[in-house]
Order: sequence, then structure tokens, then C-alpha cells
Amino acid sequence: MSTPKIEIENFDYTGLILKEPKEKAVGIPAIISSVKHMAKYMDPIDAFKLSLKINQKGGFDCPGCAWPDPDDDRSAIGEYCENGIKAIAEEATKKSLTADYFANHSVAEISKLSDFEIGKLGRLTEPMILKNGATHYEPIQWKDAFSLIAKELNALATPDDAIFYTSGRTSNEAAYLYQLFIRSFGTNNLPDCSNMCHESSGVGLSETVGIGKGSVTLNDLYEAEVIMVMGQNPGTNHPRMLGALEKCKENGGKIITVNPIPEAGMVNFIDPQSPMSILKGGTSLTDLYVPVRLNGDVAFLKAIMLILLAKEDAGENIFDQEFITSYTANYEALITDLRTYTIQECAEESGVDVLLIKEAAELLAYNQKIIICWAMGLTQHENGVSNIQEIVNLLLLRGAIGKPGAGTCPVRGHSNVQGDRTMGIWEAPKPAFLDKLDQVHNIKSPREHGYHVVSAIEAMHAEKGKVFFAMGGNFLSASPDTHFTAQALQNCSLTAHVSTKLNRSHLITGRQALILPCLGRTDKDVQADGEQFVSCENSMGVVQSSQGILTPPSKQLKSEVAIVSEIANFTLQNTNIPWLNMAGNYDKIRDAIEQVIPGFENYNERIRKPAGFYLPNGARERKFDTENGKANFTINTLPKHRLAEGEYFMMTIRSHDQYNTTIYGLDDRYRGIYNERRIIMMNQIDIDARGWETQQEVNLFSAFNGVTREARKFLVIPYTIPVGNVATYFPEANPLIPIDSYAAKSHTPTSKLVKITIKEVS
Ligand code: SF4
Repeated sequence: MSTPKIEIENFDYTGLILKEPKEKAVGIPAIISSVKHMAKYMDPIDAFKLSLKINQKGGFDCPGCAWPDPDDDRSAIGEYCENGIKAIAEEATKKSLTADYFANHSVAEISKLSDFEIGKLGRLTEPMILKNGATHYEPIQWKDAFSLIAKELNALATPDDAIFYTSGRTSNEAAYLYQLFIRSFGTNNLPDCSNMCHESSGVGLSETVGIGKGSVTLNDLYEAEVIMVMGQNPGTNHPRMLGALEKCKENGGKIITVNPIPEAGMVNFIDPQSPMSILKGGTSLTDLYVPVRLNGDVAFLKAIMLILLAKEDAGENIFDQEFITSYTANYEALITDLRTYTIQECAEESGVDVLLIKEAAELLAYNQKIIICWAMGLTQHENGVSNIQEIVNLLLLRGAIGKPGAGTCPVRGHSNVQGDRTMGIWEAPKPAFLDKLDQVHNIKSPREHGYHVVSAIEAMHAEKGKVFFAMGGNFLSASPDTHFTAQALQNCSLTAHVSTKLNRSHLITGRQALILPCLGRTDKDVQADGEQFVSCENSMGVVQSSQGILTPPSKQLKSEVAIVSEIANFTLQNTNIPWLNMAGNYDKIRDAIEQVIPGFENYNERIRKPAGFYLPNGARERKFDTENGKANFTINTLPKHRLAEGEYFMMTIRSHDQYNTTIYGLDDRYRGIYNERRIIMMNQIDIDARGWETQQEVNLFSAFNGVTREARKFLVIPYTIPVGNVATYFPEANPLIPIDSYAAKSHTPTSKLVKITIKEVS
């Protein structure tokens, strides 16, 4: 009897409805959408209780993005956004996914559902195993699950045959214990979701200003004179950022938006908590919209710097020469390189009109307090690191870093992705960190760097990685090259996931698979010494406590910390680390963190302060922790992209009803796209050139290094996007992203620039 096919993709259309894109964001519609989500998925009492505690001092940290909370007063009405509510409705759903469901539905049957439908099956309630050759998951006792993991790990020829992935929701305490276990086990194979998102920011900033994090605080945004938002869609991905931009405007600031597509969130923000804002129709945010073409950012920034250089040459003192002399290096090299380009040449490569670039340059020339914010639109490119370093070049020329109202602002997408890296979740740890770890815990950490996401997938595909363990996340759907990644996971002897909800990574498994259901951010966490709290670090480097308030949906759930401590206890033979004791009281984990990681002095005392504490940030104080102790200008190549007839550059993006690979709903309200995810946004000129109508059904192809990939069944929709550029949602278009196409130095997959061809479905 043939083995039932496990579906890697779902091609079902759901019934596309198109409306005019919005020009205003948030407002009453966001309240309606939030209430709908709460009503549909949550117990009303829970929903009310959680809405009072999310992002409040002493409350719990939103499991959504990493936007900071105000240090001082927080909104009594609610310190959250629509997508924060969707995130807690996803986790605190009243629906449970029990063993009965798995008994009655084979993995193959479940895989026929869409990612949206799988995600709505409910909270996992007990540990499950998919035995070798089995078609259905079945319950397993925790101790049996832990001993199976221990057996598989200890059976490996080398610890480097194991891969330990981390998703950015993991708390500081769980992340620290997890990396300590993994290094005690003997490997640095710690790929994490940051590899796929802001790794280019980390590399670009560390090399230039000595810290892989942003330098600004929330208050800096309020007092900035110019904020330039590049390759980011805050309206959907960091919605509370719109409130900060509004404050900047109210204080007289100007906003430049650089993005291939105009996003409602950057056009106008209606504050749903302000009757005046609702009555007056909101606050227009963007003063200057720059429709750069995909990967036209370096060209745009070079054109800006050339215009500023011309002013400097004309004696206008635009460059902060005092700052440059005192704090930077390589200025002359940058200027020499800049002079090899022309403004016109750069403008053409950016796809932006010179006049528009000159307008932007005026704002950047005659204002001192400049902040540049960015996200995936800059990091997920082959030259992702250069994109970030060109931003730094511009800010250094203006001396706009390390002073109030000025600096770098990479906005993190996952609530604790920055904290996880700070805790040591990194495949390329610094020797100083490992030395301290070894000294404090009396272990011998491995020194050879491990696998990042791309190399981990390649290792599993080559049957070198044999055990894959994921702390949260949806590795398959988040990763590039979906079918290649699926094969890689299926090559493993064991795949194990610590999760709150089911996703497609639980269906594309190794020969054996485990699902280890954990507590969510909203759940109470009771351990041996009583109720515990965890801590997270937001995009501005503020570490805050987070304490769940709900009774967990099942008595069988364990915290991430408890799961790690038990696996360590089962796996490690001669360990002198008191894993279970540390799991009994998280203060003990924080005591260890305090000894190992700089900046966490008096951790347990300071984390109990209502608004938490700021971690040290050298760039914020103009103390550049680089090799030469200076902020470094860098030389970055001007990308020159050319398309042959019928070729397009594709970027993958999120809809408004999505958070990373979690699909909250099928609508993308701000863009006027409803009830469908298999769509491709194209410029009307490109559609006409092909003689196509709206909703033309097409298949997409990418050819890279001799390999052609296909993603089938997408509907063409006209959208405001540069000619030759197209946009699709992920994970639907991830099959097109080549595993071997990634950013130099950071290895971040190039999800924002994939060359594709499009064929109509005959
Ligand atoms: S802005 Fe981000 S952190 Fe804040 S409530 Fe929304 S999703 Fe959560």
C-alpha cells in the first residue's frame, strides 16, 4: 500500500476580492478587527483580562513584534495594536488541539489544509510522537519524549550532527539555558530566526559602530527632526511605531518613506485612542514618499550623499567634520569612492527621480537630528550588509548618531529575537562569551562556529544534520527553498518542536517526530519555587519582565525553561549544572546570566523595576566598540540590476493578517486584497505588456545557479509597484527563493530580490 503523500504546499484559492487600497491606517477599523478576533477565538473574560495586561508594567510582553513600550506612562486604555491582539488571540485561543484530533486525522490529511486552517486547529495540549513509519501522531509521556531525545542525541557520531533552532519568541531565561545545554552537549549549531531577518543589520552595524543593535531610544524618535523609514511597513509589522511617528510630527519632525510600494500606515495614522484624531481624520505621516525600486537603496543613499557632498564642496558645512575627525575612520576613502559616481547614475539605478532625491537631500542636509529606521526591505538582499552600512555612512557624515533624536533604528520583528542573541543564541559566538560561560559553569564550550539557517538546511539535505530541534517557530515555512528544506527535514532521524500551536513544520518531519507543547507568553508559569516570570529585550535594548496571567489550557504543558532543563538532565551524562534546580526558580538562571553577560548587573533586582532597564549601548554614547575604536565609513558597491524581457524582480512580503508565518486571517485590508493569499502584485504596465487581465492565473519560476524552481497558481493583481518589480506573500512564494542565494557575510536569504519569470496557466 502506497505511503499517503504529505503536502508541502496548499494551492487552494479562497476567493479573491479586490477593493481600493486604503490611504489611512488604524482608526475604528483596527478596533473592529481586534474585537472580531477576540470574539471569534478567545474567551471574553480572558480577552478582557489580557487586554489590560499586555505591554503594561508588571504585565506580559506582547508575543508579536519587538516595538518598545514607553518608559513612563503607558496608555491605560491599552498599550497594544490590532496585530498585538491577533497575536494573543492566536495563543490564548479557547480552542484546544487534543490527541483525539490526531487519532482521527493522519499527518497526510492535516497537510492538505492551508497554513491558515492548520494554525486555527487550537492550542496543543500534550506531547505527541510520530513514530517511524506511522501515519498518525499519538500521545507520549514527557519522560519518554525526553529519553528519546537523549537517546537520539547521544547516539550521534558527533554533537555537530545535531541542529538546535530558535525562534525569536523564546524568553531570555529559556534562551540562556538552551544555549548552555547545547554548548554543554558540544556544538554551536544554533541557527535562529535572526539569520533570516536582521542578521544583515547585526553584521553591518557591528563592523561600523561596534554593536549589532540600534542606537536610538523611543524618546529619540519623538524628538527627531527627520525620520527616514526604509524597507519597512510599520502599519502592519510594528503598528505602535505609527504613534511614535505621529509624536515626531507633532514635535515638528519630517518623515521620508523609502519603499517600492506605498503603504497606508506611512500615509496617515488615525489614533484609535484619540477621539480628536478620529474626528480630524488622523495625522498624515509621510512628507516625502520615495518609490525606490527593489534593491535601489544603496543607489538612492549614494545619490543623497553626492548631493550633500556638492553642498559641502560649496562650503556649506553640511558634514559634521568635528564628529568625523573625533569619532570616525575612512572618511577620505568614502569621499574618494563617492566621487567615482554621478548623481544621475545613482538616481537611475535607484529608480527614483533626481528631483525627489534632491528634496530628500534638502531635509537631510539642514536638519541635525536624523534617525533612519529599517526592516527586511533592506536586510534580505545579497548586499543586505551594504544597505545597512550605506545608511551608517550617511548618518556618520551628518554626525547623526550618539546624540538625542539621532541614530540607527533597525526594528525587530520578533518580540525577543534581540534578547535571544544577547543570551548567546548565535552560531558564531565570540570567544569572550564562551570563556565566561566555561568559567562560570565549568564546561568546555565548542569553539568552531556552527550552522546558520542556510548551512543547517544544506547540512540536513546532505544528511550531515541528523537531529533537528526547534524552540518555537515554523522552520519549514520561514525558510527559503521550501521543497529543498522539506527534503532536508525529512532526511533527519528525529525532528522535535517546542510549540504552542500546530504548523506545517510538524507535518514535514524526520523519520520520527516529537511535538513538545509549551506554555505561552499569556499563561501562568508555576515551577518548584512558585509562580515565575521571564524577561525579554525589545528593539531599543530595554529588558523587561513578562508574567502570564491565564491558567494554561492544559495541565500537561511545560514552560520552555522546564523542557530545556529536563532534556539537559536526560541527555548530559556528567553534568554539574543544576538544571532542574535552575528551572525551579528563574532567579537562579538570571544569577547565571548576570555572571556571564555584560550589562546584566543586579539582574534580579533591576528586572523587578516596573519598566525594566536599558542595556549598555556604546553607539548611543559614541563609544564605538569596533576594532579601531572608531565608527567606520565603508565602501559599498553600487548594484546594477538588469532584467531580460519577461523577467521580474520579486519580493516576498507579509499581509496585514499575518505575523511571520502565522496566518491570522486571509485579508490584507490596507492593500485592498481580501480573502486570498495566492496573489502576485504587478504594475499595470507589466500586466498590459503581457496582455493579461486582473486575476490572470499564473505560475512563477526562478532560475538560479542552474536550478529552476516553480511556485504554482497565483492570481495577478494590479498594484502601485515599480515596473519590473512584483510582490507576493510568504510562505506561499518561498519555494522560489534559492537556498544558495543569500546576503554576503550575513547569509540572510534574499527574499526581497528574486529574479523570476511568469507564465500564464493554460
Ligand atoms: S506594535 Fe508589536 S509589540 Fe506592540 S502590540 Fe503591536 S505587535 Fe505587539
